[in-house]
Amino acid sequence: MLDFEGFSRRLVAHGGACLAGLALGAVPAGAIAQDIPFTAWRDGFASDLRNDGVDEAIVASMLDGLEPDPTVIERDQTQPEFVRPIWQYLEGAVSDARVTNGQNASAGIADTLMAVEERFEVDRHILVGIWGLESAYGEIQGNFDVVRSLATLAWEGRRRGFAEAQLRAIADMIDRGYASRDDLLGSWAGAMGQTQFIPATYMERAVDFDGDGRRDIWRNEGDALGSAANLLARAGWEYRQPVFTEITLPQGFDFAGWSEGQRRTVAEWAAQGIDPVSGDWSADDLYRSARLVIPAGANAPAFLVYRNFEALLRYNNSTAYALGVAYLARAFEHGDAGMATGWPTDNPPINRTQSRELQEALARLGYDPGGLDGVVGPNTRSAIRDFQSANGFEPDGYAGLALYNAVMAADADE
Ligand code: CA
Repeated sequence: MLDFEGFSRRLVAHGGACLAGLALGAVPAGAIAQDIPFTAWRDGFASDLRNDGVDEAIVASMLDGLEPDPTVIERDQTQPEFVRPIWQYLEGAVSDARVTNGQNASAGIADTLMAVEERFEVDRHILVGIWGLESAYGEIQGNFDVVRSLATLAWEGRRRGFAEAQLRAIADMIDRGYASRDDLLGSWAGAMGQTQFIPATYMERAVDFDGDGRRDIWRNEGDALGSAANLLARAGWEYRQPVFTEITLPQGFDFAGWSEGQRRTVAEWAAQGIDPVSGDWSADDLYRSARLVIPAGANAPAFLVYRNFEALLRYNNSTAYALGVAYLARAFEHGDAGMATGWPTDNPPINRTQSRELQEALARLGYDPGGLDGVVGPNTRSAIRDFQSANGFEPDGYAGLALYNAVMAADADE
């Protein structure tokens, strides 16, 4: 169920707060953990836990005899070369099969879903959309021993602080009786259950919806969907309000004056000539706070996104994911997702090798793409926009094939 490159799998709600103040493990900061045997990391971390007052039986259940999982290291060190176009992601996310399976799964737990919606005031179709994208409605939760995965990541060292914080959260989960050691199955990166929560998010946001004392996001749909609803509610979900509107940009739209983080009322966007693709703005719409999101450049579908979109990003920080959930929800509710069309399939996002070449060429041409790492982040997008402005293109910052070709040609002419 790995979906879209470039976004962190589940992390979210206040993960940073958990990482702050974290004790370093047994390995000095900056050391390459794999320089020491796994057992040295394991025994050092076990004594850290004991020193922090974690019950000996819990430490033993987590770490005794544990060995690293080579698959986890392999996955962690594999950088995907291909950047999946958003239109391909959305096609998969909102496939007919996923819509049908979601309708069937919802029908099976209709009363629970209504109860969750009422308690948390989060729209049930959205919750089912998340459920569908995270675990195919509970069918695909991952079979990795999450303790082993996280211990492997901690030892490997690239994300030790993150992994050790998750292991501490697991000790807490077991101590409080929310879950048992044997429950802890999930993805290679530590995302667990039907909601694919990492342990720290679980501790902060998972709920015991049916009141049996366990927060069973693996087997209990009420606990799982209640936990997702609680996360969204705490992230500012606005009940029965929209997530986004697909819009049309006016001729001559001022791309240079736009940035992805810019937040304005819909009324202000409308004054710039931005209209919904169908119908008109309602009076309620005009007061909404919105960002303009253009995921595939100027000549592609564009969206105004609202507070609920930002809440979905707290679940999973990806524009494609948030749109996928919202389109799925729309399909459940209205029988038709009304998916955006007119994606620039002849202008796909460039791959990592091309991105590195692009960064190097931009740097030679006097722009500042930040690092030359093949990852298109804010600095590279800013350099792209500068290049576009200087060369008569709309400065949309989209790292597509057309832009790549233009930069390569300019670099060759130098
Ligand atoms: Ca429960």
